[in-house]
Amino acid sequence: MVLQHPPLAPSTAEEVDSYYDLPFRRDVHPDHAGPGVPALEAVRFSINTHRGCFADCSFCSITFHQGRAIQSRSEESILKEAATLAEHVDFRGTITDVGGPTANMWGLGCKLLEKGKPCLDRDCLTPDPCPALRLDKTTEGYRRLLGLVKRSKGVKHAFVSSGVRYDMLRGKDGETLPLHDTLVGEHTSGRMKLAPEHSDPEVLRLMNKPGFEKYEQFEEEYRTACESQGKEQYLANYFIVGHPGTTLAQAVQLFEKLLERNYSPEQAQEFIPLPMTRAAVQYAAGRDPLTGEEVHVPRTERERSQQKALVRWKDPKGRRKVEEALTDSGRTDLLPRYRELLAADERRQAHRTGSKGRKQARGKSRLFDGARAGAKDSDDLDIAG
Ligand code: SF4
Repeated sequence: MVLQHPPLAPSTAEEVDSYYDLPFRRDVHPDHAGPGVPALEAVRFSINTHRGCFADCSFCSITFHQGRAIQSRSEESILKEAATLAEHVDFRGTITDVGGPTANMWGLGCKLLEKGKPCLDRDCLTPDPCPALRLDKTTEGYRRLLGLVKRSKGVKHAFVSSGVRYDMLRGKDGETLPLHDTLVGEHTSGRMKLAPEHSDPEVLRLMNKPGFEKYEQFEEEYRTACESQGKEQYLANYFIVGHPGTTLAQAVQLFEKLLERNYSPEQAQEFIPLPMTRAAVQYAAGRDPLTGEEVHVPRTERERSQQKALVRWKDPKGRRKVEEALTDSGRTDLLPRYRELLAADERRQAHRTGSKGRKQARGKSRLFDGARAGAKDSDDLDIAG
């Protein structure tokens, strides 16, 4: 017998407020108080603005455990939390995040569903954001909220470090929404986090993500906005390796895009099939459940490790794997450029280590040199030119 319960109704604003209005301690459990938990620092003074996500990325299960309807907290509840943070004895004026599963979905609803009408599509963001989302109006609400949090008593910075959907920073006529420049100018702590996930059109289609050209367009606009606002800022991008549908040739396609940018993220997310997701079915069945088409699934250790090495190509430990992958895929034409960039990087590293050593020898090293907000590391896509 299979007993199926109807899904839980989305929480109302009052209900969501009541969850977050609880008196959280914002500290580690006393059992771990001794050495502390470094991971806490990134979230200790952050504000969660909403639950849910309607992006419907094939590999992600947020839709299933938080719901696809955005359940937003009220402005009052969020500002109340900002005031509570400001009174905390350890607070130094920086709210590290005002966001949620996707930062710029706060306050978003669908005008069709709100009127009680059915939607026969339910693919709200691909290939383009649905006009029923009223992005231009609702992102203004988020912009206003960020401004209010930043101007709260005792707050110096209100950053957004949750991932941002760059395809939602554009209005229905294709124009860049004001939220874009405000995020760049006031709410980015050195790096804006994005998740293009891949660059190959077929892989992106199976992931239900927007085309890479949208990311490239955003990259340009971000660069322009940083330049015009005099900001030295970067992008931190997330990519998935080994997602169903990714052949070696497609992994090399992504490698080529990264090579063009002389960029290798420090982390690459290895695909894990999550229960209930479309990608889990693609993984288990070798077929896409929506189209029935056969899908290549990278299952062997050799294939998965090659794909990972191609994304993290600046890691010298993966060099043999990268060369092996380029040989296997018949793309040895990329080897000279790869070796040239890697050698240049090694020279730069050696130079840095040398100068650091010299500084230390002179007893002039400063403990927090690398800790300033936005300090550039190899995880940053240097779009500042
Ligand atoms: S009308 Fe548009 S925004 Fe609303 S549920 Fe359907 S696809 Fe999503």
